[in-house]
Amino acid sequence: YTGKTGNELLTEQIKKIRVYEYQHVPIVVKESVSVYDAISTMFLEDVGTLFVVDDQSCLTGVLSRKDLLRASIGKQDLNALPVHIIMTRMPNITVCQKDDLLVEVAQNLISKQIDGIPVVKKTKSGLEVVGRVTKTTITKAFVELVMEDHI
Ligand code: ADP
Repeated sequence: YTGKTGNELLTEQIKKIRVYEYQHVPIVVKESVSVYDAISTMFLEDVGTLFVVDDQSCLTGVLSRKDLLRASIGKQDLNALPVHIIMTRMPNITVCQKDDLLVEVAQNLISKQIDGIPVVKKTKSGLEVVGRVTKTTITKAFVELVMEDHI
């Protein structure tokens, strides 16, 4: 018997979970695609956050549902408006890496008030997008932790 309380054991289990165990496939679009096509991609891929990349597949921006909604309520032609005009851009993007603790990414989702964070890998040309962690990812991990009866 370790003498640890149930709470301490649970905390220990949670702090073992790394991003790579739960990350999802990232859905990305190029900077030059139109807002119209980004909206189509969001529906087709059934995601709430798109990551924007340059020709080297490196992260340059993020598009949320509300970014696209905001762009859609004006009188602009959504087919002629490229996403790089409206996206949130680097270096103001919160990112994580595959070996980060999932709980730290969850804390970032809450403190930054965002729905998703790209998982990136540093390369010579920039940050390559290799995955995504969203509020759904955290919910899934939370449920699995209970279901698997880890402790
Ligand atoms: P929504 O805007 O649909 O409520 P979010 O809360 O995720 O969705 O996004 C809020 C704002 O934060 C948006 O302008 C979005 O571009 C930006 N954003 C989303 N994800 C990130 C991120 N990982 N890093 C920085 N900004 C982000």
